[in-house]
Amino acid sequence: TQAHVAAVERARPLNAYILETPERALGMADASDARIAAGEARPLEGLPLGIKDLFCTEGTRTTAGSKILETFTPHYESAVSANLWRDGAVMLGKLNLDEFAMGSSNETSAYGTVISPWRRNGSEAAIVPGGSSGGSAAAVAAHLCLGATATDTGGSIRQPAAFTGTVGIKPTYGRCSRWGTVAFASSLDQAGPIARTVRDCAILLGSMSGSDARDTTCADLPVPDFEAAVSRGVKGLTIGIPREYRVDGMPAEIQRLWDQGAAWLKEAGATIREISLPHTQYALPAYYIVAPAEASSNLARYDGVRYGLRVPASDIVGLYEKTRAAGFGREVKRRIMIGTYVLSAGYYDAYYVRAQKIRTLIKRDFEQAYAAGVDAILTPATPSAAFGVGEKASADPVEMYLNDVFTVTVNMAGLPGISVPAGLDAQGLPLGLQLIGRPFDEETLFAASQVIE
Ligand code: GLN
Repeated sequence: TQAHVAAVERARPLNAYILETPERALGMADASDARIAAGEARPLEGLPLGIKDLFCTEGTRTTAGSKILETFTPHYESAVSANLWRDGAVMLGKLNLDEFAMGSSNETSAYGTVISPWRRNGSEAAIVPGGSSGGSAAAVAAHLCLGATATDTGGSIRQPAAFTGTVGIKPTYGRCSRWGTVAFASSLDQAGPIARTVRDCAILLGSMSGSDARDTTCADLPVPDFEAAVSRGVKGLTIGIPREYRVDGMPAEIQRLWDQGAAWLKEAGATIREISLPHTQYALPAYYIVAPAEASSNLARYDGVRYGLRVPASDIVGLYEKTRAAGFGREVKRRIMIGTYVLSAGYYDAYYVRAQKIRTLIKRDFEQAYAAGVDAILTPATPSAAFGVGEKASADPVEMYLNDVFTVTVNMAGLPGISVPAGLDAQGLPLGLQLIGRPFDEETLFAASQVIE
């Protein structure tokens, strides 16, 4: 823990941590030492972790990357972080993220952009770590923690993992409790770990998961031994390759990596089968209706009365307006406006209801593939490697949204998905492959991604 605290201090230019909590870390580490000395070590005893600043931490400021929560200190601990502390892990601090987890580059945080430790060959230009869990991914890649918590609403665990050469898994919707995690889009949000190896992810997910009566969408299922699944191999498994993921303009090196991944799985004993997920092309536009709709509703609670920032005004409506105008950043405001629009009386059927129907069709595509004997699906994690800081931030927001084309389908269907590092692009930046599994079958994902790792 001491070595990590020092490393975090030295690496401040990466801006991975919004808040360092060295006292809390060293106190927890002392308690761990005592446990170990007494022969009572718990499964994660003394392991220093970073916590995405979307998870409420009791007595430690939680900002969600937003100015509106700059002064918010929760008096409760999120279910996921509480599970980690129950198992003996140590908290190094709160990790940076896109504001309210909205973004794909960690450039929308009110606490500044996170810089990836990676650089293109022969260049010093700063590279984004991806988002929204950019702080988690950069911290893991730069050895500023052993592992980190993250959340994934439309790719925010898998895309930053792919951009930083780390492993990230979004488990099945309902595997981890959402209790005490700041809500973005409640029907899509899931917590999961980012770590440096598949095995580390399996160990962390095992601790983070589990039923919780406080989140009615949290599954009441036993948590499997994920670590045991890592070395299970892929003999006899059928891996689907969905032809609709071969999108126009995808760089040839991504296609090559994808073919390589399939070849590795085949060599290890899996059967590779081309499959069709015909509604894939509608996932991204439908996601960018459903996610903002839910966000606009969830963010209504930030009114200057109950949490964080308050900008005084002469009447209550003025207080709401001034607080929200000053507290929310551009991307968050854009999502609130889109979400309010698609939920409004005249447009609800045209946008929101249609997007929900598309969501059902996407889910059905996957169900049909699994019913036909496919055990897991292999795709690229992202349509490109990481880009430079500022390269996409000022352009059309849709260009940023296109980063999520391979990841949002998984959230729309509620399925588990993992991103595993699989190689480097021509400029020396990491690329990831994604494996998508059956509901509550994260074990197959661990086994198959271990073959690629
Ligand atoms: N990039 C996506 C968005 O901005 C996903 C974010 C996420 O998964 N939290 O909505």
